[in-house]
Amino acid sequence: MPPAHPFDDDKLKEECGVFGVVGLADAANFVALGLHALQHRGQEAGGIVCHHPEHGFNHARRFGYVRDNFTKESLMKTLPGPLSIGHVRYSTAGSKGAAIRDVQPFFGEFSMGGAAIAHNGNITNAVALRKELIERGSIFQSSSDSECIIHLMARSLQRNIPERMEDALRRVEGAFSVVAMTRTKLIGVRDPHGVRPLVLGRLGDGWVLSSETCGLDIIGAEYIREIEPGEMVVITEKEGIESRFPFRRQASKFCIFEHVYFSRPDSIIGGQSVYETRRQIGVELARESPVEADLVCAVPDSGTPAAIGFAAESGIPFGMGIVRNQYMGRTFIEPTEQIRNMGVRLKLNVNRALIRGKRVILVDDSVVRGTTSRKIKEMILDAGAAEVHFRIASPPTAWPCFYGVDTPQRDKLLAATMTPDEMADHLAVDSLKFISLDGLYRAVGEAAGRDKACPQYCDACFSGEYPVVPSDMLDKGFEMKAAE
Ligand code: SF4
Repeated sequence: MPPAHPFDDDKLKEECGVFGVVGLADAANFVALGLHALQHRGQEAGGIVCHHPEHGFNHARRFGYVRDNFTKESLMKTLPGPLSIGHVRYSTAGSKGAAIRDVQPFFGEFSMGGAAIAHNGNITNAVALRKELIERGSIFQSSSDSECIIHLMARSLQRNIPERMEDALRRVEGAFSVVAMTRTKLIGVRDPHGVRPLVLGRLGDGWVLSSETCGLDIIGAEYIREIEPGEMVVITEKEGIESRFPFRRQASKFCIFEHVYFSRPDSIIGGQSVYETRRQIGVELARESPVEADLVCAVPDSGTPAAIGFAAESGIPFGMGIVRNQYMGRTFIEPTEQIRNMGVRLKLNVNRALIRGKRVILVDDSVVRGTTSRKIKEMILDAGAAEVHFRIASPPTAWPCFYGVDTPQRDKLLAATMTPDEMADHLAVDSLKFISLDGLYRAVGEAAGRDKACPQYCDACFSGEYPVVPSDMLDKGFEMKAAE
């Protein structure tokens, strides 16, 4: 069971990826490939549920990477049928890395048949719901917030599973992109704000749901469209897609950090290439915060598109000043103390010949605790750089996310306790500049910037303005930003 990666502990961590297929023979094999493409959304564990008309429901849940588990013929033979869903997880709720019972999809047996669900996001009233459900007799199997959905479905009086899901999800607050299945139906739902992504694809006679379009690409499926905020699609092999909107309409609040960091650069979000958006962030950053320098380098891999954009706009050459070791694999996944102390050097190395004597601009996607930024700066200076200027492709991350992203507590976020200038002093760099919120909005295609009265995206981790009140966290003492 791999723990959270020891060298990525200074990044926000997404959360989960979901994938589902109906109408294709041996659907679980397609789901395994889709989950492999979504592995960046969760590396701790994965699970697949499938249904076969003769063999009924089957499932497999495993810790570790998809490629290490769901490629074995002996395992995949146990997952037959034309309907299947899957989930990769990095735990955002429930006990971290604790038990296989926390690994999704979750399954429930109802009077009208079984159903399985895979959830990406975070339920912000899960503590209150769980307490209520337990008091009324529900017996929970896991510590995951997502299991509430199954128990709420069990208590619904509706006569079919999609309607029970509607009932259940109307009680749920927060962020959810859910892929679910019955014996005959594949179901996809997004919360009314559409915080987390979910897309629809077509492959032959089959239909596919995926967190991102890169999951469609890997199996050769055609991208059809996004599931809309607040939409539920119920898909059957014979009748195709039925779309409904079971929730009160709300303003769209897609997670803007998906554009900056979480999604893969080869995915398409809202009709826009994630790579191109990130490149444009670099362009905006160069316009907002120019600096005289000799070389633009990315902190790989997530800072690369923004660094390319920064270089193009500033006219300063781009170079691979930091090289990522692509073959970390699982070799050091449970490192000894000695290896752990080598820290970031195991993953990133400086290209000394390129760096020596240069004034270097380093482009990174975000600063969370600042520990990695400090180490990278030291490596660059050790290699003989004359100056180090950080340019960050997101605004200061000053607030935690409660919508399906693992963030440290607020007091551990560097930007929660320091101004950007104080952060530059703390990191001992020559300069440190973040893209502005307006600049980020322009880069994602909002030419007039952020609409202050009704922001077009969720940007709570930068602005402190939460589109859904995190009620469980308020009960635990979290203090929201005072209204201006
Ligand atoms: S708080 Fe940040 S990371 Fe979380 S959903 Fe909103 S924009 Fe995304």
